[in-house]
Amino acid sequence: MRASQFFISTQKEAPADADIVSQKLMLRAGFIRKVAAGVYNWMPMGLRSLKKVENIVREEMNRAGAIELVMPIVQPAGLWQETGRFDGMGAELLRFKDRHDRDFVIQPTSEEVITDIARAELRSYRALPKNFYQIQTKFRDERRPRFGVMRGREFTMKDAYSFDRTAEDAGKSYDNMFAAYCRIFDRLGLTYRAVAADTGAIGGDRSHEFQVIAETGEDAIVYCPDSDYAANIELAEALAPAGERAAAAAELAKVHTPGVKTIADLVGFLNVDITRTVKAVVVEGEEGDAVLMLVRGDHELNEVKAEKVAGIKKPLTMASPALIKDAFGANPGSLGPVGFKGRVVADRTVALMADFVIGANEDHYHYTGANFVRDCAEPVVADIRNVVVGDPSPCGKGALAIQRGIEVGHVFYLGTKYSQAMNATFLDEDGKPKHFEMGCYGIGVSRILGAAIEQNFDDKGMIWPDAIAPFAVVICPVGYDRSEGVKAAADALYAGLQAQGVDVIIDDRGERPGAMFADWELIGAPHRVTIGDRGLKEGKVEYQHRRDSESTAVAPDAILAHVLAKLA
Ligand code: ATP
Ligand code: MG
Ligand code: MG
Ligand code: MG
Repeated sequence: MRASQFFISTQKEAPADADIVSQKLMLRAGFIRKVAAGVYNWMPMGLRSLKKVENIVREEMNRAGAIELVMPIVQPAGLWQETGRFDGMGAELLRFKDRHDRDFVIQPTSEEVITDIARAELRSYRALPKNFYQIQTKFRDERRPRFGVMRGREFTMKDAYSFDRTAEDAGKSYDNMFAAYCRIFDRLGLTYRAVAADTGAIGGDRSHEFQVIAETGEDAIVYCPDSDYAANIELAEALAPAGERAAAAAELAKVHTPGVKTIADLVGFLNVDITRTVKAVVVEGEEGDAVLMLVRGDHELNEVKAEKVAGIKKPLTMASPALIKDAFGANPGSLGPVGFKGRVVADRTVALMADFVIGANEDHYHYTGANFVRDCAEPVVADIRNVVVGDPSPCGKGALAIQRGIEVGHVFYLGTKYSQAMNATFLDEDGKPKHFEMGCYGIGVSRILGAAIEQNFDDKGMIWPDAIAPFAVVICPVGYDRSEGVKAAADALYAGLQAQGVDVIIDDRGERPGAMFADWELIGAPHRVTIGDRGLKEGKVEYQHRRDSESTAVAPDAILAHVLAKLA
C-alpha cells in the first residue's frame, strides 16, 4: 500500500467524551469515527485491523470444524417469542415494527434463528455433531455504551452454536471450542485468562469467559497465582486502585452485620431468594437493621426485594436518589429505590468478593460483588463464596488475588434450554425424537481491538501485535519526492517486502519527518524502516520496532532480511 493512495486521518487531540486510552487512540489515529452513542464508522485504517482479527477467528473456527453461515440482522419476533426472549430480554433487545405492523428485532445474539435452522435441517442423529458460526453485526441497546468499540451498541461478534446428540458429546464440542479460543487469543498476541463464569439460569459449571488482562477492564477476576484457578467476580466498575481496594475491603471486614461473614450467612440472614439481579449488599447499622439491597435494573424488582427484606428485618427506609448519590458517590441513574438504614460503609468503589461487597464509581449504577449468590448451589460459587482475597483458595495452592479483565470471549454449554423451548429435535438411533444438546460460543471481534490497545500502548500511541496491526511494516522515506537515492532504496525495500507477502505501507505522502513519525507511532505499526539521504551516504538505513527506544542501523542491502527476520 502507498500512503498517498490510502486514507490516513490522524488527530492531535481526542474528543472530550473519550474515556479510556484505547478509545482515545482509536479516534486520534482515525481507526473509528463516532456516528451516535455506541455506533461507529470503521474507517479504512481501523477496518484493516478488524478484518485481520476476523480472519484469525475464521481460520481457527474452520480449523476446529465449525461451519460458517450468516443469519439475518433483522429477525422476526415470532422466533423470539418461542423462547420467551422477545418479552423477557429487556431493553437491550432492539425491537421495531415493519410497515405491516409486524414485530422484529435486531439480533443481539442468534440462538433462536440457529435453533430454527437446526430443527429444519438436522433431522437425524447422523447429521450430528454440527457447529455453525457467523461473524456478523450485533446490536444491543446497552444502557451505557462507552469505551468506544469496547461497549458499543452496534458491534461485530463471532457467534457459534453447537448441536450434539448427548450431553457428553456437547461436552466434547465445548472442549473443542475452548481449545480453539486459546489458539485464537494466542495468535492475536494477547495476554488473557480463561475464567469460570456465570451460568445464570442454565446452571452447571460449563461456562468460561476469556478475559484480556487490563487495568481498565470492567470485569474483576479472582485467581490463584499458583494454579490455574480463575473466576469472574463480575465486579463491575470497580476502578479503584488495588491499594484502595484492599483498604476498603479491610474496612468492610470490620463492619459486617453481626454474624454475617459470608454470602452464605447473608442468604440465611435475609432469608430471601437472592436471584441474579441482586448486585450488592452492604451497609452497617444498628444490630439487626443493617441491610441494603441494590438491584440492577428495573424498579419493580427493587421494590420486591426491598419488601422481602423489610418483611424480615425492621422496615427499611427507601433512599432517595440524592441520598444514594451522597452515600455512594454514584449516580443512581435508573437504579430505582434502594432501601437501607444505617451508615453506608463504603463511600466509593471497593472491590471485593467473598463477603459481599459493593462498588460504585463516580458516575455509574453498577454495584456488585454478590452476584454469585444467585448460584449458591453451583460448585464454582461454593468454592469462592467463603474466601476472601489473601486467603488460601479453592484450589488449595496459593493465596487468591484479583485482577481486572475485558471479556473478549465466552463459551457456554446450553443443554436443551433452547431446543426444548423451540421443540427442536432430531431422530435418534432408536427412531425417537430427541432434543438437541447445544452450546454457544461468542467472541467480541470488534471489542478485541480495544482490548488489544489497552494492553499495548505508550504515550505516543498504540503498539500493535504483528498479527493484527493495520500494517505490519511502514517504510518512512525522508525526502521521497526529492532524492533519487532515497526513492530507489525505499521502492526496492517496498517491492521486496511485498514479494514476500508482507503487509507493508510506504509513506510517500511527502510529510515532514516529525509529522510522519508521529503518525506511525500513533497508529502503532510495529516495524518501521527509515530511509534518508544522510544515512544512505553512510551506508545505512534505520530499523526500529515500535517498542524500541532507539533505532538500529542496518546496511541497505541487508534491510530486507533484517525486517523479515523481525517478522518471523
Ligand atoms: P458484557 O458482560 O461485557 O456485557 P456479555 O456477557 O453481555 O458481555 P456475551 O453475550 O457473552 O456478552 O457476548 C459474547 C461476546 O460479545 C462477549 O464476550 C464480548 O466480547 C462481546 N460483546 C458483548 N457485548 C458487547 C458490546 N456491547 N460491545 C462490544 N462487544 C460486546
Ligand atoms: Mg452484556
Ligand atoms: Mg459478561
Ligand atoms: Mg458473556
